[in-house]
Amino acid sequence: MVETSRRDIRKLKLDELKQFFVEHGEKPFRAQQVYEWLWNKSAKDFDQMTNLSVGLREMLKQNFAINHINVDRMQRSSDGTIKNAVTLYDGMVVESVLIPTEKRITACVSSQVGCSLACKFCATARLKRQRNLSPDEIYDQVVAIKEQAQLYYGRPLTNIVFMGMGEPLLNYANVMSAIEKITSQKGLNMANKRITVSTVGVAKMIVKMADDNVKFNLAVSLHAALDKTRSAIMPINDTNPLSELGDALKYWYQKTKRKVTYEYVVWKGINDTEEHAQALLKFCKIIPSKVNLIEYNPIDEGEFQQASEAALNMYMDILERNGITTRIRKSRGKDIDAACGQLANKT
Ligand code: SAH
Repeated sequence: MVETSRRDIRKLKLDELKQFFVEHGEKPFRAQQVYEWLWNKSAKDFDQMTNLSVGLREMLKQNFAINHINVDRMQRSSDGTIKNAVTLYDGMVVESVLIPTEKRITACVSSQVGCSLACKFCATARLKRQRNLSPDEIYDQVVAIKEQAQLYYGRPLTNIVFMGMGEPLLNYANVMSAIEKITSQKGLNMANKRITVSTVGVAKMIVKMADDNVKFNLAVSLHAALDKTRSAIMPINDTNPLSELGDALKYWYQKTKRKVTYEYVVWKGINDTEEHAQALLKFCKIIPSKVNLIEYNPIDEGEFQQASEAALNMYMDILERNGITTRIRKSRGKDIDAACGQLANKT
């Protein structure tokens, strides 16, 4: 574990770093060099900063720590998916996932340790929320997967989804700051359109994102378009009902002109009737949208079971017939508990 009494250097903005150097009798351009080492080259140690004098590196070591993450354990699924157990500077653990497909390599990253949302079907919910991840802890997960993509697949990382542990919009400032670094030329220089932030649908934060004019994609974990059902499986719906979510999405579309993707699991006896499919269709008409019907990944013996193929086809039929693009998404990495909703630091 890294010592925590020294300040985490990556909490400093470039300007603050410049100020630190000036105050210590150094040239401000040194700050630029260090910043590049920290973000662009993902240095984990001051000794890697070979264009700084040994004396300067020592001075930095005395003042700062680099609280980088450690990928402690890596599991590979038979389908090529890689799950990482990531240890943070304070010993807490989150998980991140590399998902390879023919055309893409996607990094699925966590934004919080645990989650406060208590969705009944999700394993992460059982961990409760421990703390938010800092921007660099989010950034480092992406860097680690980028390196794995090259090492194991000889291909570049192409996409990033905030679909790991936690609710990104309840750690908004840090997630935005991480995305800023990921997309900046001094960081990973990845395109915003390759990034998707997935949310349980926190209405007021969707409004905030629209006001902030963000450029990445938005996905909403909907799972039910009838309040009674949604509240029963996703407690957030009690204080944040579908009408409010719908209004926030309208605002989002007005401001950004960007489509939204709805994630939706169809469960036996919960939402597998035509009434539910019609309600989803109605919700989909609020703003331009598409639907991913995602396969349920059982997290116990319990009350949730994947609906029949007939029910999925009924959904497909109703949505597609009405012009809503709908895809059925098969799970990846199920054998290593790396699939949606399975991230729970099991080991
Ligand atoms: N909190 C954000 C980010 C988590 S993304 C959000 O809710 O969107 C994880 C995705 O997996 C969400 O769409 C979630 O609803 C879904 N999910 C959770 N548990 C699942 C399970 N057991 N099987 C399939 N999908 C699940």
